[in-house]
Amino acid sequence: MSSSAPLAGLTLDELRDRLVALGEPPYRAKQIFQAVQQRGVLDPREMTTLPLELRERLAEEISPATELVEVQTSEDGTTKFLFGLHDGKRIESVLIPEDGRNTICVSSQVGCPIRCVFCASGVEGLIRNLDVAEIAEQVLRVRAHLGERPSHIVMMGMGEPLLNIENVIAAIRLWTDKDGLGFSPRRITVSTAGTPSKVDRLAESGLGVHIAISLHAPDDETRARLVPGSPGGRTRALVEAGARYARKTGRDVTVEYVLMAGENDAPEHADALAALTAGRHIHVNLIPLNPVSHRPDLKAPSGLAATGFLRRLQQQGVSATLRTQRGEDIAAACGQLALERALED
Ligand code: SAH
Repeated sequence: MSSSAPLAGLTLDELRDRLVALGEPPYRAKQIFQAVQQRGVLDPREMTTLPLELRERLAEEISPATELVEVQTSEDGTTKFLFGLHDGKRIESVLIPEDGRNTICVSSQVGCPIRCVFCASGVEGLIRNLDVAEIAEQVLRVRAHLGERPSHIVMMGMGEPLLNIENVIAAIRLWTDKDGLGFSPRRITVSTAGTPSKVDRLAESGLGVHIAISLHAPDDETRARLVPGSPGGRTRALVEAGARYARKTGRDVTVEYVLMAGENDAPEHADALAALTAGRHIHVNLIPLNPVSHRPDLKAPSGLAATGFLRRLQQQGVSATLRTQRGEDIAAACGQLALERALED
């Protein structure tokens, strides 16, 4: 831990060590931790429970990891938060109010190496991993902006969370800390296009979060075309890792499948997907493609075709639903972040 590491990335123990090193009493650590992690107060000058001198000292030494640059709200209430990072890079989070929930969609990397054909985040490849504070602060800043805690967290923003797994796990430990936001792991979803061994690593972490596997194809050939940045030949292994995760955690796993006309929406695709997922504590979430400007050739199937695909899965014993998209007018559908802004800059 560097002496100027942002507060939002520190555990209570790390913060205590840091304060002791500064010659401060250890009990201050909890006051600071709670201000940061519970209320999203990231500027030490605003930590009114601390003596003025300590506030100033901390403010001089420590800067937050992120700066809130812009907030944009779409007609359906979806709100996009744009953050600046210390190296000038940008990331985004989205807040999606729906069915009495307030879900925040969080980024884990700048850019993404997976390059799903339909996804804006992967167009420029991976730029870098986010550190713990950069991940954690997205939720804290949105919490401060809202005046209350979001109800759910999904790691479906920019990036592939399992390729930055240790920082993602550390951020989740902060969000679930009872002296922090006190999030239930059941209300946190890690979404991954996947590496089976990393899914196992997440199971071993004991966090008990929900996982979503971005499959998008039921066989290796189709998947290599639609998810080119993911190592090939692992479609089945990925679903099996998901099934192991479900067994180990006792929690159903979601498989996400973006439906694209003529790409992965044929009856044979539905049958192959059913063969992979039925009877394994896997729920399939079908998502009609939200059009993206970099691939105008890709189209969502008709409503009838999408419903037909859904029925075909259900008839084969698969638990499945068809999702509707949100935030399209500000390109803030979860998982579609940041490219447009990056191109404007
Ligand atoms: N790398 C992780 C996290 C990114 S979220 C992962 O792949 O899971 C990826 C999800 O965003 C996809 O599964 C899909 O649900 C959604 N998504 C991204 N672009 C989309 C688009 N153009 N239309 C519909 N859904 C999209």
